[in-house]
Amino acid sequence: MQAKPKLRIGYGVDVHQLAEGYPLWIGGIQLPSPLGAVGHSDADVLIHAICDALLGALALRDIGFHFSDTDPKYKGIDSKILLKEVFRLVSEKGYGIVNIDATVILETPKVNPHIEQMQVVLAGILNLATDEISIKATTHEKVDSFGEKRAIKAYASALLYEL
Ligand code: MG
Repeated sequence: MQAKPKLRIGYGVDVHQLAEGYPLWIGGIQLPSPLGAVGHSDADVLIHAICDALLGALALRDIGFHFSDTDPKYKGIDSKILLKEVFRLVSEKGYGIVNIDATVILETPKVNPHIEQMQVVLAGILNLATDEISIKATTHEKVDSFGEKRAIKAYASALLYEL
């Protein structure tokens, strides 16, 4: 019998409410917006989805398991710190990242003009080339909570290889 290829796939999804008076962090950068994401941390929905994709690929549970949303230690924390810790767990398990593909669902503001900057920030943390981390953006066509600007959502997939 042939040995299995040493590849692992994972996916993650995250949602945060939007409200006035909160900053809007997506992919490690702050976007100018009257509405921001509500959460215990900085509520960076894209980074949270990527964290869950990376953890999921190695059956390492989920972001809430590692960083409790009731722990005061994580109140307002920069999600880039959480992503660094998740990457450390992945490396510790003996895996590297092949690539990541993600989608952000947000009605407004436009995410597209900021994607290149997000790629640079996230690639730096995860030791990837910018073309190994794909970020896509779409609106929700004005329908449901996302289309009504009441929430933001992100999906991410990650492929890992054994080092
Ligand atoms: Mg979250």
